[in-house]
Amino acid sequence: MEKKPFVTLEQVKEIAKTYPTPFHIYDEKGIRENAEKLKKAFSWNKGFREYFAVKATPNPFLINILKEYGFGVDCSSMTELVMAEKMGFGSDQMTDGIMFSSNATPAEEFVYARKLGAIINLDDFTMVDFLEKTAGLPEKVCCRYNPGGEFKISTTIMDNPGDAKYGMTKDQMIEAYKILMSKGVKEFGIHAFLASNTVTNEYYPTLARELFELAVELKEKTGANITFINLSGGIGIPYTPDKEPNDIMVIGEGVKKVFDEVLVPTGLGDVALYTELGRFMMGPYGALVTQAIHEKHIYKEYIGCDACAANLMRPAMYGAYHHITVLGKENEPCDHKYDVTGSLCENNDKFAIDRMLPKIDMGDYLFIHDTGAHGFAMGYNYNGKLRSAELLLKEDGSVQMIRRAETISDYLATFDFCDIFKGVE
Ligand SMILES: *Cc1c(COP(=O)(O)O)cnc(C)c1O
Repeated sequence: MEKKPFVTLEQVKEIAKTYPTPFHIYDEKGIRENAEKLKKAFSWNKGFREYFAVKATPNPFLINILKEYGFGVDCSSMTELVMAEKMGFGSDQMTDGIMFSSNATPAEEFVYARKLGAIINLDDFTMVDFLEKTAGLPEKVCCRYNPGGEFKISTTIMDNPGDAKYGMTKDQMIEAYKILMSKGVKEFGIHAFLASNTVTNEYYPTLARELFELAVELKEKTGANITFINLSGGIGIPYTPDKEPNDIMVIGEGVKKVFDEVLVPTGLGDVALYTELGRFMMGPYGALVTQAIHEKHIYKEYIGCDACAANLMRPAMYGAYHHITVLGKENEPCDHKYDVTGSLCENNDKFAIDRMLPKIDMGDYLFIHDTGAHGFAMGYNYNGKLRSAELLLKEDGSVQMIRRAETISDYLATFDFCDIFKGVE
């Protein structure tokens, strides 16, 4: 699939007059159409709800768009809980608006999550006791499952749950349910996240079968009242142009088939399905726009940008591919080979290595695709680099700033007890 930017060079030139590069920009229209489609794909399930994984794109303006579709949020830290509360996802404003899927959880976070009426998803068997002692047990509890071994779709290994720190074993799930029931818990959920960024329509149906069968077994062995199953995140996006995007309608149909086959005949046809998608909801609808400000000719050809890994860490951290379009040169031949770099004093600060692109001239704007999830969010301040602004391209074509760029005084804010930095702008 050809990757097309959702803004033109002319638009970016106009935007850059007000908001200098680099910036992350998000496409409201894309976000809405996708959210609509997800709802439609699972509309056959009465209790279906998406809990957007806040960590993917923790911006209240974007999350508010998703809120319009009735989605909740998936939080995993105190800060995310506080944000969720301020955005109106707490129990006094929205029933079951927050899923708290954390691990190695500090006591005060359980206390706060309980205060907000969040659905608590226990990552470990020992957390049963910990939750009871620190925050008390709610009436509804979810437990996170880890089947161990490899997670395969037919013969392809998708990921390695056996090496993952998350979740509990099946025996522990059974034991946890029994203990929780004996202590008065009335409603149960099952959660698992077994493979990340899957670009296949088979992931959810395969995961669903595993979790639905587990639900049947848990019900048989414990008698627990299982009311929801959380398929979590993991539906991926095609970062490379050669990949076909997932078809959420096909995925929804695939899950329905397994639901009808496994859950309906065992009396579990009322189970609600939840998702905690992050990447799929936002990834393709965000981009990092940066300007080429230097070129360098040594043993390789380098293009130096005004953005760096502090704005987008995935290439440096995972060697992740992010497609790059040189705006205004969409139709020119990709006959130049470049390393596209940031300015960190770190040699892994490269957005692309040996990438074939059109000839880049100084001042060209590069559109780095698919940064809408786990992009800005992973930003950091190494080398004193500042995080960029976030902008929203609205459906009417106008642009709204939804987060301002950091300033040096933001960077220095944690020294606000020192006199020497007073007055720094
Ligand atoms: C990160 C995460 C998600 C979202 O994952 P995506 O790959 O962005 O869909 C969902 N649930 C949990 C518990 C997570 O840690």
